Amino acid sequence: MHDFKLKAGSPVVKEITKRTFEQDTGRRAPWYQVNERSSGPEKGRRSQYAVCPLCDNPIQIIGLYHRPKNTDHPYGRHSGKPIPGFDHFDVEELRECPYIRKRKPTKSSRREKLSGIPLTILGIIHTRFPEIIRTIELDTGIQFSVKLAEKFLTAYMEERGYLYTGATPRNTPWMVAYFSDSQSLFGQSLFGNQAFSDAIREHVPDARFDNDGRLAKGGRYYEINCCFIDHGQIIVNRELKETMEFQGRQAAAPFHRQVIQITPQRFETMTTTGFPPWKTQQLQEAAHRILSKHLGPAMNQLEALPSNR
Ligand SMILES: [Zn+2]
Repeated sequence: MHDFKLKAGSPVVKEITKRTFEQDTGRRAPWYQVNERSSGPEKGRRSQYAVCPLCDNPIQIIGLYHRPKNTDHPYGRHSGKPIPGFDHFDVEELRECPYIRKRKPTKSSRREKLSGIPLTILGIIHTRFPEIIRTIELDTGIQFSVKLAEKFLTAYMEERGYLYTGATPRNTPWMVAYFSDSQSLFGQSLFGNQAFSDAIREHVPDARFDNDGRLAKGGRYYEINCCFIDHGQIIVNRELKETMEFQGRQAAAPFHRQVIQITPQRFETMTTTGFPPWKTQQLQEAAHRILSKHLGPAMNQLEALPSNR
């Protein structure tokens, strides 16, 4: 992997470069430490450690000062064992980390317990739901009403998408969409996705856009749904590449297919400047209400998390 975090539970992810790593750690322990315990050739060597941005387990930084022959870029590799000074080590999360897991996650594979990564994910939804919706809007061109956003989150919570083993803190907006089931787009506005608008005009001739750009009542009844399928995670040159497919559908058949590239950096820097203040506020309130309803007493654990803002 080419990214790191300083601590488990932190939302801050940075690229591994010598300058950034030295700057952020101040070359201090536990990120810099002498490998006393190892019995192999590494014993007595000074090594660098950090935390995996996807599973929160410790990683060793390779190639910061001694560049291996097979790469021109330093990278992180799971240590696979607890490292002094890093208090978090979770074997179950390690096994499911997309950098380690060889097979594609199936939609039905779920983590067993609500702690660690799933709790971090719920914390992100709780504090950044407006930014999550904004990210999906910009990828699909659907301008979400608050009601549609509520339907997405409700379906996600009913499916317990936060326990899905392909879910990481970094792909949260896309996983909310992935577990939203099929939703009707009637009454929603579209913007900026010409291919999708063209496909609607071509394949759903009864569809009509009103003066505000909303999908409105046409001459005859029509149906337009959206859904998200086929989440994929592969490692290419030590980097995680994630995609899923966005579909516009009429009943059983898709008339629009679009591959969405999952780009965590975009979400991590996403703001809600594109929203009127009332929409941001209503989305925040909706997230709190829906999470409280579904989590019950576990909501206290979320509210105790350090804020992700
Ligand atoms: Zn990991």
